[in-house]
Amino acid sequence: MKTTHSNSRRNFMKFLGASSLFAVTPGMAEDTTTPHIVVVGGGFSGATCAKYLKMWGGSSVNVTIIEANPTYVSPILSNLVLNGQKTISDLSFTYGDLSSKYGINMIHTTVNSVDKINQSLTLGNGSSVKYDKLVLAAGMDFIKVNDYDITKVPHAWKAGEQTDLLKAQIDAMADGDTFTMTIPAAPYRCPPGPYERACVVADYLKNVKGFSNCQVNVLDANANITVEADTFGAKFAEYGVEYKPSTTVTAVNDETKTLTYIENDVSKTLSSTVLNVIPKQKAAPIVFKAGVNSGNWAPINPLSYESVMANGIYIIGDSQGTGQPKAGHIGNSEAKVCADAILRTLNGVALYPSPKTNSACYSPTSTTEASWLSAVFKYDENEQKMVISNLAAGEPSTSNYSQMFSWSGNLFSDTFS
Ligand SMILES: Cc1cc2nc3c(=O)[nH]c(=O)nc-3n(C[C@H](O)[C@H](O)[C@H](O)COP(=O)(O)OP(=O)(O)OC[C@H]3O[C@@H](n4cnc5c(N)ncnc54)[C@H](O)[C@@H]3O)c2cc1C
Repeated sequence: MKTTHSNSRRNFMKFLGASSLFAVTPGMAEDTTTPHIVVVGGGFSGATCAKYLKMWGGSSVNVTIIEANPTYVSPILSNLVLNGQKTISDLSFTYGDLSSKYGINMIHTTVNSVDKINQSLTLGNGSSVKYDKLVLAAGMDFIKVNDYDITKVPHAWKAGEQTDLLKAQIDAMADGDTFTMTIPAAPYRCPPGPYERACVVADYLKNVKGFSNCQVNVLDANANITVEADTFGAKFAEYGVEYKPSTTVTAVNDETKTLTYIENDVSKTLSSTVLNVIPKQKAAPIVFKAGVNSGNWAPINPLSYESVMANGIYIIGDSQGTGQPKAGHIGNSEAKVCADAILRTLNGVALYPSPKTNSACYSPTSTTEASWLSAVFKYDENEQKMVISNLAAGEPSTSNYSQMFSWSGNLFSDTFS
């Protein structure tokens, strides 16, 4: 797959050569006039943005990541924890390289509020931090239908404890038990991810645990499988997954593990041994607190990822509302467009006019096979938005399964190393 932002980056590097202000001098002391860029969130989008700001901006910028957790657990590949092919520790990353190799300041606490007038953040540890530019890369949040206990009905859509909880529930299933998952209306994090999970769990119960009487149900709020419909449709038929499109969950009972849902205008209930409800989604809480959302997501200028509602605040990753997918690979890609745009803006240089971004999702469908889906987006000047310029997909195979680890290894290393 072609690098997403290569043209823009080349262009920027040319600009670097022409600008003495931007000369990168490792180890040079930074004075108090150096612009301070604060990135909230150290996931695929935030960690990448901070790294490229320092790689391209050097000592001309101070960069701080404020991240709630000292360890990041990748949701990418986390369905493989459910079938025992990976552990949470395999998918865990720390921020040592970002500090030691690139000079990024790390603060581990939660950002509680944004004061746009004074350009200052209030932190969970009681202190405050001033910024010149603010990047919100805080992922997404859930909209639950009622207040049920997620330790009993896990979503496992943010990886870590939730993934281990769901795995333990699946491992406690006996032959004849049922596993039911629900898929929210798009847009949600990782378009193929829920369908991939249904395949992984069905394969695990049937082919790894050797159960012949377990039932896997998928209740989808969407009218059809949203992506790779032929691939997942064929796998559902092979595994005997019961797929119900256009179903809206209206209540979740965590005690009885019962769903109430609407199908064809009729309210129905379904009880299951394991319930995996993936709730509807919206931008991260800090986006709402900063007042840069319109509805559930944050509108931005795709040339820079700067909010259309507040100057100097940029939103990348799952929270952005451009219509591009909510996924880690494209979050990494958006981060580079954003880093480039911030550095240009700080230096009075015009934004790169034709950015491209790229999304790639690999979907394991068993312990040995995976499919993939990739989309390239380009900026359409007339529509002033990102549009798909190329779409490609690969069917489940063992070679795609091994390529999945090369792809993810590259993405992990480009983000955290
Ligand atoms: C099962 C599954 C499979 C997936 N597979 C793929 C795939 O194949 N390809 C792909 O591209 N994507 C995939 N994804 C999607 C991908 O994981 C997400 O889209 C991606 O993690 C989003 O990156 P982000 O940087 O926007 O947010 P996140 O990765 O969620 O990072 C946000 C960070 O911000 C921190 N944070 C939030 N609020 C605050 C605050 N107020 N103060 C301090 N810190 C804060 C959080 O702690 C978190 O670390 C998959 C997801 C799942 C669930």
